[in-house]
Amino acid sequence: PLVLGIETSCDETGIGIVQGHTLLADTVASSVDLHARFGGVVPEVASRAHLEAMTPTIERALKTAGVTLDDLDAIAVTAGPGLAGTLMVGVAAAKAYALALGKPLYGVNHLAAHVAVDQLEHGPLPKPCVSLLVSGGHSSLLLVPDVATDVRSLGSTVDDAAGEAFDKVARVLDLGFPGGPIIDRTARSGDPAAITFPRGKLDDGTYDFSFSGLKSAVARWVEAKERAGEPVPIADVAASFQEAVVDVLTRKAVAVCKAHDVDHLQIGGGVAANSRLREMAKQRCDKAGIRLRVPRPGLCTDNGAMVAALGAELVASGVHDSRLDIPADSSLPVTTVRV
Ligand code: ATP
Ligand code: MG
Ligand code: FE
Repeated sequence: PLVLGIETSCDETGIGIVQGHTLLADTVASSVDLHARFGGVVPEVASRAHLEAMTPTIERALKTAGVTLDDLDAIAVTAGPGLAGTLMVGVAAAKAYALALGKPLYGVNHLAAHVAVDQLEHGPLPKPCVSLLVSGGHSSLLLVPDVATDVRSLGSTVDDAAGEAFDKVARVLDLGFPGGPIIDRTARSGDPAAITFPRGKLDDGTYDFSFSGLKSAVARWVEAKERAGEPVPIADVAASFQEAVVDVLTRKAVAVCKAHDVDHLQIGGGVAANSRLREMAKQRCDKAGIRLRVPRPGLCTDNGAMVAALGAELVASGVHDSRLDIPADSSLPVTTVRV
């Protein structure tokens, strides 16, 4: 099916067009620069930017894909989770297009879309697979018998999300926003074994995560250096922090695969773009005989293609479309694939 996907859960206006598992267009207009000086996304500013970017971004995507609105089989939109105000802009636009064109509307889960996008790069997801979902607002281990109909949560963070920890540590180190990509880059010239930071919940027998203790430990370590009047070895701190996060994520992900006898691990969400996570996951999966699937970095961070990919999967699976009066749900649970 030919599906157009609309993503507005945060600061990216993402429009994607897919034909089944084939990506035809992935157009993103980001308001990230407008938020940089506030050190985080300002919802009102983001909502306004989505409103302005929506029509031109859809038009650009259609042009890139070489299709018209009439050609579409369905419209998919992120219904949640995310910022209530920004979600509403996307959902309203999707409803308007669906109504005007007489096409089915699918309100989809942003997190399941982070998983489904993998199909654009590596083909159908094995049923089941395990997914490590690591993003700015979420960190979960999922058992995914079928991304269109059956997503189960096995564990998640009890405090900060992995991406949130990256962003907060970047702020402690004065590196800018969003912190993930900057820490990734900075860490390349650092020693990951320079400082031993705590690995929260590593051996607690659950599939939950905790990153706020790690974040505080980094802040305390940096403060102590500064108080002593010593220079802060930024690259070493970044590398050592990143190592602690990635160590826990990969160990627990492999443990889930073994416990559930699943031989495919998928990693999705913005933090899946992290080069050290990709490297360590590969090493540990190879060692455990698990096949690893991670989309290219551009498909890990928020985009419209992921929404279109999940929409296409729902259509292909015969899942019923959404009603035209669906709400935007800022706290939609990860297990609700379609609203
Ligand atoms: P959610 O998906 O939970 O709603 P979100 O959509 O805001 O949250 P994503 O766009 O999926 O989040 O991911 C953004 C997060 O990914 C940010 O916290 C960012 O710092 C982090 N991130 C992006 N690239 C990297 C990287 N290379 N290394 C580490 N973290 C990264
Ligand atoms: Mg973003
Ligand atoms: Fe996201």
